[in-house]
Amino acid sequence: MCAWPTLRRATILARMTIPVKALQKTGPDAPFQITTIQRRSPRADDVVIDIKAAGICHSDIHTVRNEWGEANFPLTVGHEIAGVVSAVGSEVTDWKVGDRVGVGCLVDSCGTCEMCQQGFENHCLNGAVGTYNSVDVDGTITQGGYAEKIVVSERFVCRIPDALDFDVAAPLLCAGITTFSPIVQWNVKEGDKVAVMGLGGLGHMGVQIAAAKGAEVTVLSRSLKKAEVAKSLGAVRTLATSDESFFNDYRGEFDFILNTISANINLGAYLGLLKPRGVMAVVGLPPEKQPLSFGSLIGGSKVLTGSNIGGIPETQEMLDFCAEHGLGARIEKISVHEVDEAYDRVVAGDVQFRFVIDTSTF
Ligand code: NAP
Ligand code: ZN
Repeated sequence: MCAWPTLRRATILARMTIPVKALQKTGPDAPFQITTIQRRSPRADDVVIDIKAAGICHSDIHTVRNEWGEANFPLTVGHEIAGVVSAVGSEVTDWKVGDRVGVGCLVDSCGTCEMCQQGFENHCLNGAVGTYNSVDVDGTITQGGYAEKIVVSERFVCRIPDALDFDVAAPLLCAGITTFSPIVQWNVKEGDKVAVMGLGGLGHMGVQIAAAKGAEVTVLSRSLKKAEVAKSLGAVRTLATSDESFFNDYRGEFDFILNTISANINLGAYLGLLKPRGVMAVVGLPPEKQPLSFGSLIGGSKVLTGSNIGGIPETQEMLDFCAEHGLGARIEKISVHEVDEAYDRVVAGDVQFRFVIDTSTF
């Protein structure tokens, strides 16, 4: 049989994709390796982004370590992406080559349901497409931002204000919006007594954002090791939850608690720290189910709620808010060769406060 139709088809297919260097894992125990993945050629409404910085979120770790269930390997993770537009599809009007942009946890949604219409693409009733480990509209598994480039629908791109460097901005695309959204939803305001549980990547953004809203912010950390730096983020104090009398001493103290803890805790004990009618918004997602006695909610008529990242308009609002208030992630920049070690350090709580991969090191 003549080989040329096969060759021709292969050539056409190759033209339809963009080869990109990326960090990939082939299984939960395999180390990251540098490989080449294929991005689709931009469709009419797509933009191509040259990635400058990619943050490491604890969700990336939960995912590739199979802590939330089976991941689709081989997989490239990363949903805190900052970079520059390097090409646009024929119908793109909002973005041009050279624009400073970011992409967070979502790359597509139906755009037509009630939630999408209200700007809550994160709650798309037909299922939003996650930036990685999600089934894309073409049936392939999405691949995330630990890579040189990404191709996404223009609707899922946000503008990074000039005041924010790429590496400081990248973590805002997940850690920033995930903490901003519940703080806005629950109207955290001047004078509110707010506690942030866990001073990691999300927590350190929650502290800055709540403080910028005028709240009196207390950090609840396992120890007082981060007390000084917590102050510099805007917290009035840090309390060590490991102190024996802690949960008694601070009973009924807070109007609003933002729970960013990534591991098992005694949730009922923390709910005791709320004032009557107070609100705890949970964003930390430990792999195991968390037991809870309803008594800890019913006594004091408390609200326990969750929050899942945020929509695209509020992500833009958050980026502008951070630029306006001089907020940004405190980061440790690493090369593409240091990601395995960085993961272990995140799990050990040994980072202040976000690792950001410098993609120029590919
Ligand atoms: P991180 O940087 O590792 O921070 C988690 C913090 O939790 C740690 O800094 C630590 O704070 C505290 N912590 C860890 N283990 C603990 C333990 N055994 N007991 C008590 N406290 C403990 O993680 P992250 O990137 O901020 O993410 C936090 C969680 O949010 C993860 O589960 C992640 O998957 C989830 N997440 C959810 C969303 C969403 O949309 N809801 C979005 C992004 C991430 P201290 O050292 O101060 O004690
Ligand atoms: Zn994340």
